[in-house]
Amino acid sequence: MKTIIEPFKIKSVEPIKFTTKEEREKLLKDVGNNPFLLHADDVLIDLLTDSGTSAMSSLQWAGIMNGDESYAGSRSFYRFEKMVKKITGMKYIIPTHQGRAAERILFSILGGKGKYIPNNTHFDTTRANIEFSGAEAVDLLNEEGKHPEIRADFKGNMDVEKLKEFIKNIGHENIPVCMLTITNNSGGGQPVSMQNIREVKEACKQYNIPMFLDACRFAENAYFIKKREKGYADKSVLEIAQETFSYADGATMSAKKDALVNIGGFLSINDDELAQKCRNLLIVTEGFPTYGGLAGRDLEAVAQGLEEVLDEHYLQYRIRSVEYLGEKLIGAGVPIIEPPGGHAIYIDAKRFLPAIPLEQFPGQALTCELYIHGGIRAVEIGSVMFGKYDSEGNLIPPPMELVRLAIPRRVYTQSHIDYVAEKIIEVYEKREQIKGLKITYQAPMLRHFTAKFEKIND
Ligand SMILES: *Cc1c(COP(=O)(O)O)cnc(C)c1O
Repeated sequence: MKTIIEPFKIKSVEPIKFTTKEEREKLLKDVGNNPFLLHADDVLIDLLTDSGTSAMSSLQWAGIMNGDESYAGSRSFYRFEKMVKKITGMKYIIPTHQGRAAERILFSILGGKGKYIPNNTHFDTTRANIEFSGAEAVDLLNEEGKHPEIRADFKGNMDVEKLKEFIKNIGHENIPVCMLTITNNSGGGQPVSMQNIREVKEACKQYNIPMFLDACRFAENAYFIKKREKGYADKSVLEIAQETFSYADGATMSAKKDALVNIGGFLSINDDELAQKCRNLLIVTEGFPTYGGLAGRDLEAVAQGLEEVLDEHYLQYRIRSVEYLGEKLIGAGVPIIEPPGGHAIYIDAKRFLPAIPLEQFPGQALTCELYIHGGIRAVEIGSVMFGKYDSEGNLIPPPMELVRLAIPRRVYTQSHIDYVAEKIIEVYEKREQIKGLKITYQAPMLRHFTAKFEKIND
């Protein structure tokens, strides 16, 4: 494989702060061994999330200056609307301050008690907004997607047979919308094939159920289709994205991902009546329909970011840099979800630290060690985040114990990634020395954000 260079020059830089291992040991101890609670300034390479962490281009920054801050009818809104319409082909484009605001509006209208909303895998804010409305969020991921060690091209696909069965059992009248998340964030950033999108649409159409995309990473998904699915190699990413959206009746989007901005989102809809209801709710909770909780400058930056994210040199660099990190780790025997997804590498902490029982949170222990050893911040997606307890207080662990390394867009260079790989491999080589953890404080809900831990010394 020949070197793929970063498809940009650097015009503005942000220094990163170096700390010593001793300093990091103290800093981490002070926040109860939970890297979430560190000051970001004390992190050398921050791989906590790819959300809102993108580097904007000079043209996006120029757009920030150029933004039209008119309350109603802003020029920046019309530029934003035109760009989103070009990609999605949808009739109504409703700006929101981020993805979950679009979800909240949609599900407060379509959700409610007795309703069921299927998805390949619901992202946590999507699930939370559905459940908050009283409805049930159901995951219908295909079988390969559930096995970290199986390599397949489209591990984000929905199980269409299960969907059909589900519609028959639950009754189509109780399913107000079917979602499809591209790429499948909670399932390892794995892509969904065009064939699957088409088949999900057909199954829904038979019963008049609208199909919505959770489109946060639509460009990364389109690039995977171009590279992996028969018949798409010669199509442009824009054409593939347009075809993707052509099967959908609507979409929710967090612009903090594939629109390359730090804040923003939207809801796009074809149905007149539903769009009207969404706009009415938008005015109450977000703002007038030509700004929707954003400044004019934000809309300008989103419009520009959507043009840039469709550039195939960018996408080649993006997907390849994640894969590059994955390959280095696999080469050294580090167990990860295979193949690497579009925006992150997921380390399989169960196989990385087999000696630490799940009750002692191997994923969290590894996250701590990555910070202490290399100043790298990752996030545990395992027993701390999703663990439940039975009536006797025994942990019911989730199926997978993962540590996610999410790669911010256009932020780190190849040498940063080389450094990350080196440090992880060094940690892997001394994995026997890593100790488990016990919880000393936890909140009743979403404990991973604020929990505190102590090292277990045997
Ligand atoms: C980030 C994300 C969301 C929520 O978007 P926010 O902008 O964080 O509110 C929804 N779905 C998926 C798949 C996401 O990755």
